[in-house]
Amino acid sequence: MIDYHIHTRRCRHATGSMEEYLAEAKKKELLEIGFADHFPVELLGVNPEDQVNMDADELPHYLADVERIKEMASMPVRTGIEVDFLPGREEITAGLLARYPFDYVTGSIHFMDGWDFTHPGRFRQFSGRDLKLVYEQYFVLVEKLAASRLFDIIGHLDVVKKFGFFPREDWSWLVDRTCRSLAGEDICVELNTAGWRAPVREQYPSEAFLQKCLEYRVPVTLGSDAHRPGEVGDGLERAVALIEKIGFTEVAVFNRRERTMLPLKTL
Ligand code: ZN
Ligand code: FE
Ligand code: FE
Ligand code: ZN
Repeated sequence: MIDYHIHTRRCRHATGSMEEYLAEAKKKELLEIGFADHFPVELLGVNPEDQVNMDADELPHYLADVERIKEMASMPVRTGIEVDFLPGREEITAGLLARYPFDYVTGSIHFMDGWDFTHPGRFRQFSGRDLKLVYEQYFVLVEKLAASRLFDIIGHLDVVKKFGFFPREDWSWLVDRTCRSLAGEDICVELNTAGWRAPVREQYPSEAFLQKCLEYRVPVTLGSDAHRPGEVGDGLERAVALIEKIGFTEVAVFNRRERTMLPLKTL
């Protein structure tokens, strides 16, 4: 198994040291892991109410620590990062990302017009809204994220469903349109198992998305989105069984922002 989405306590809403996350990966005999902690959004010029990203001062220490962990590890460890996609800030994001030796960059959407809709303290705001419009707005951002070409992976593709709010209307056309636009942008989608631990109780993204990804040849990779050491590798066997059932035969891995495909048989 590979796990490309691991946080650490640096982001202020996860617990555990990198050593503890590595120990869990070793215990679960993972083939390859990647840390992808939350990039400091203050560097992108925003200052959210809830601090859920690492501090700007922490970034060099994070990078140095990943290097240290690589030396201790018996499996390949990749230097990833999870970066908020903020429309209008593509240029500043590109300039910053170019400065660091990442193996991959995961682009995620946690904000819509400043609303951190993935935050457990803020989901009540879903109630008063037109969910069809919320979904449309979210997936327009996904298309912009992909078109920005800033990222190697799109994180938790349908995280807008996290708290179990779905439009009453049919929105399958959004699934199709989104995956079709991803296909043109050389980006891969992660099967993120944190959805099974969230109120929605469904992996990100849904089977409908995964089927469309396969149809349009959008590659997939795997991540647990661990925020505690025990969550490393969580749900990955089930995730592999699911993508195999859908028809995928390989998953993406990264080195210095070069993608290669690993056959599922070798996991
Ligand atoms: Zn997080
Ligand atoms: Fe995220
Ligand atoms: Fe994450
Ligand atoms: Zn996350």
